[in-house]
Amino acid sequence: MQASPSSVSSKDFVSAAPGYWRDADVSEEDWDSAKWQLKNRITSLRQLEEHLELSEEERSGVLLSGTKLAMSVTPHYFNLVEKDNPDCPIRRQIIPRIEETLVAPHEMADPCGEDSHMPVPGLVHRYPDRVLFLVTDRCASYCRYCTRSRVVSGAGEQDLETDYEAAFQYLENHPEVRDVLLSGGDPLLFSDAKLERILERLHRIPHIEFIRIGSRIPIFLPQRITDDLCRMLQKYHPLFMSVHVNHPRELTSEVRAALEKLANHGVPLGNQSVLLRGVNDDAAVMKELIQKLLMCRVRPYYLYQLDLIQGSSHLQVPVAKGLEIMEQLRGHTTGYAIPQYVIDAPGGGGKVPINPDYIVQRNAERVIIRNFEGRTFEYPEPAYTPVGEMAVGG
Ligand SMILES: *Cc1c(COP(=O)(O)O)cnc(C)c1O
Repeated sequence: MQASPSSVSSKDFVSAAPGYWRDADVSEEDWDSAKWQLKNRITSLRQLEEHLELSEEERSGVLLSGTKLAMSVTPHYFNLVEKDNPDCPIRRQIIPRIEETLVAPHEMADPCGEDSHMPVPGLVHRYPDRVLFLVTDRCASYCRYCTRSRVVSGAGEQDLETDYEAAFQYLENHPEVRDVLLSGGDPLLFSDAKLERILERLHRIPHIEFIRIGSRIPIFLPQRITDDLCRMLQKYHPLFMSVHVNHPRELTSEVRAALEKLANHGVPLGNQSVLLRGVNDDAAVMKELIQKLLMCRVRPYYLYQLDLIQGSSHLQVPVAKGLEIMEQLRGHTTGYAIPQYVIDAPGGGGKVPINPDYIVQRNAERVIIRNFEGRTFEYPEPAYTPVGEMAVGG
């Protein structure tokens, strides 16, 4: 039974199924199958208008999305869209708007400068000891603010041309790389067998200590997180997964079960949120989200300032607001729930931590700090010489 949205706190884990799909349209078995979910994704204006009344901005946005970033939404995720709320935080994430075609002066096709950091196509090597491996350009659903919309979904002009063999050889020949992050697109869109071939090959490289998968499939398509998949993944430990949840309503009972299954197979889970206008630019919403993530055994990892992607101005939130939200979290809830707020530096500088300033004043003798309540404290600096270093003077 579906609970009516008004009776449900966003702290509850509820199923939204069958939602817009009536029981008569789909059997329970089909609904629970990832294959059915993928086949029945909402990809056209006609399908969308069967379920929702669109605004003019959305209507024109959908018509133009085919030339930029395709529209695609799984039935599971689509059911989270509130029918009569034009400002629904789920809707803003997956239904195109005409504002996507507006390009503001500082916006870029490749805001994080990834293309210029690819030693081989599809492999981004920006940090000394780890790489980002873009294994596919497809996702289960498309986030309208995708940082890689230039290559993702197949709709735009640029294609992701990952050269797997060259990437594996690069990794084999670069012993400084100890951490490989699989992303895309969404790696969990691959079949178990295809994904395993990649994991197996990476696992064989002796200097690769750590593999991560970045995926929104546990959220868009929880039906994909099967026992078979989890049993396969656990052969390649230590294997971590970073998921992507922006709003507490995305944590449905199905999503929680999928996350639980991954955790039970020993996959440590982190979450990466993007700060989005009208979605989670509110301390109360963010607090609910991160507390709910802990209940799913997911550790909030990063909160991203939205990259300066072309056509994203309607979703941008100022850094001042992000800092204000961070201040309202730190100290006010469990430390494990607090993500690191970061800006991925425009042009390719990598992730830079952005923090509210808790140091009021600092010199060689003392540090003046303030706590979450705004009270100030003094910490006297110790006299210090590292062990083994000769003390100077007498
Ligand atoms: C985010 C990212 C990583 C991983 O960074 P961590 O801070 O270790 O999570 C690696 N490579 C690239 C290019 C990235 O953008």
